[in-house]
Amino acid sequence: MNKAVFLDRDGVINYDPDDYIYKMEEFRFLDNLFEIATEITKRGYLLVVITNQGGMDKKRFTGEDVERIHTHIEKSFKENGTPISEIYYCPHHSDLQKCLCRKPDSLMVEKALYKYNIDPAQSYFIGDKPRDIVCAEKAGVKGIKIDVNQLKLNILDQIK
Ligand SMILES: [Mg+2]
Ligand SMILES: [Zn+2]
Repeated sequence: MNKAVFLDRDGVINYDPDDYIYKMEEFRFLDNLFEIATEITKRGYLLVVITNQGGMDKKRFTGEDVERIHTHIEKSFKENGTPISEIYYCPHHSDLQKCLCRKPDSLMVEKALYKYNIDPAQSYFIGDKPRDIVCAEKAGVKGIKIDVNQLKLNILDQIK
């Protein structure tokens, strides 16, 4: 079986200004991200991104905006030699409709576990919100909570 490190997007991969991020000019990767991705990949983990994008439901941005940012993320990780297996996102907002994918629910993680034959017991989820950790634990994955936008190199100490 494979093992994976799941990453939340806003506040973990890129700077989260505490508002929706959908414009390329406002998007920036956090410091240490690619160094951490390199080490995680070296240790044999797949990388999978799990993100709520409920602003789409609220019509703050479109699916095209999301795809543009995700294409940029995928390209940048690939160029770093640490390709992302897949980016899963939930386009629903709990104010408007119920769904099974929005974190803290774990459907997105469970889809990845199945598709990529990932052992949850050997996997981690790095997130900056309590709902990331709840989602991880529902799927049997160990959650690692960081403070928003504070991706430090010593997070690697928590990953085998
Ligand atoms: Mg976040
Ligand atoms: Zn959803």
